[in-house]
Amino acid sequence: MTKKYDLFAEVNLQFERAAKHLKLERWIFQKLSQPERELVVHPSIIMDNGKPRTFVGIRVQHSTAKGPAKGGVRYSPDASLSECKALAAWMTWKCAVIDVPFGGGKGVVVCDALNMSQNELKKLTWEYILAIKDIIGPYKDILAPDMNTNERIMAWIVEAYNHDKTHFEFAVATGKSTSFGGSFGRKGATGTGLFFVLEEISNYLNYFLSEKKVAILGFGNVGSSIAKLVYKAGCRIIAITDIHGGIWREKGINPFKLQAYMNRRKKIVGFDNTKPIDNNGLISLPCDILIPAAIAGQINANNADSVKAKIILEGANGPTTKEADEILKKKGIFVIPDILANAGGVAVSHLEWMQNLNKIIFSEQEVIRRMKTRMMKALWDVLAMMNKHNVTMREAAYILAVKRVAESLRIKKFHNYEEIDLKTG
Ligand code: NAD
Repeated sequence: MTKKYDLFAEVNLQFERAAKHLKLERWIFQKLSQPERELVVHPSIIMDNGKPRTFVGIRVQHSTAKGPAKGGVRYSPDASLSECKALAAWMTWKCAVIDVPFGGGKGVVVCDALNMSQNELKKLTWEYILAIKDIIGPYKDILAPDMNTNERIMAWIVEAYNHDKTHFEFAVATGKSTSFGGSFGRKGATGTGLFFVLEEISNYLNYFLSEKKVAILGFGNVGSSIAKLVYKAGCRIIAITDIHGGIWREKGINPFKLQAYMNRRKKIVGFDNTKPIDNNGLISLPCDILIPAAIAGQINANNADSVKAKIILEGANGPTTKEADEILKKKGIFVIPDILANAGGVAVSHLEWMQNLNKIIFSEQEVIRRMKTRMMKALWDVLAMMNKHNVTMREAAYILAVKRVAESLRIKKFHNYEEIDLKTG
């Protein structure tokens, strides 16, 4: 994508459309149009070369209307405040779609994590957490992994948050290792949830998965998990890209072998009998199911018209721009929106948080069973909304989410809005 665009404005357009549909009261509309809090911090560390360096860290809490804020932490050189606000807002809507008692938050640290040492990353994580520790916690704002953050970084977050506490709290972060307060089933949860949603939608559309050709953008946590699941379901994965490039093989790619290759080489290019392909090439390939599982805005006005897939399953947050969405709608492509499709991760994060607070441990089977029940309920709630209002699945998911968050605000009726509300409605 060439043009930088305002990601937060994109999310708000979806919100505004849903608000209009629901004839939302003005005070609720205004309250949800901006995040409740944006904190910018400047963690400083000494790099391995002995030189000091100051970074930018952000934590945004978009809404706590339904409960404590919840959302991942992304380490990326391209991260920005607008992106962080957008990601936090998506968390508000995502948590509402699957009806977990969380609001939406997100954090970013602007850094080139892939080219930093573990020592540097540990120091940076500690400094970031110490700088934001007053506004996070198990009952305020709960962190999780996102792009370029993982179980180890979650362990550092828990360590830094607890270092001066009299009692230890795991529940400040989810997505932790099972060896340090994590939940069984969390690591692949987003991919597992994506797969459950895809399976149910393909049954709903009578478009069965076996032998379907799949193309996937991204081979990280989400991309690699869904790749393995669709492969096991009999799909043929014909192309995958990552940040370094992409691979294409019409006869199919085995994601388990690719994972082993990737673990050794740290990239997927050059894998077994594959031809190189770039993101736009992958997006325009003749295939049945396209799964964006990397960064935002990859399906955009420049390439949406070239999409040939029948279904787009959004593993990434915000992979499709507003302009692209309109094009895909006209082309009759069925888009399963991010705020539903990739919510399996936060569904299991909710279970991890519950287990930490109650000092209990669920088996992996139990975690997956509970997550599936929640995801299927959300999916059918969205489909009911879609059919009732004759809208796309994305529009339906937003209508459902905004309706639920608005209800949680109405029940409390913020005292300072009451007067305005009586006058203006
Ligand atoms: P990750 O860091 O594990 O993997 C990201 C993948 O995207 C990597 O393969 C990377 O090489 C690739 N990538 C990055 N830039 C790219 C580019 N320009 N072109 C092609 N590929 C590129 O991250 P993840 O956790 O798998 O997250 C991926 C997406 O899913 C993000 O949008 C994230 O917000 C979203 N998401 C993640 C979770 C989760 O539980 N991890 C939950 C919900 C949504």
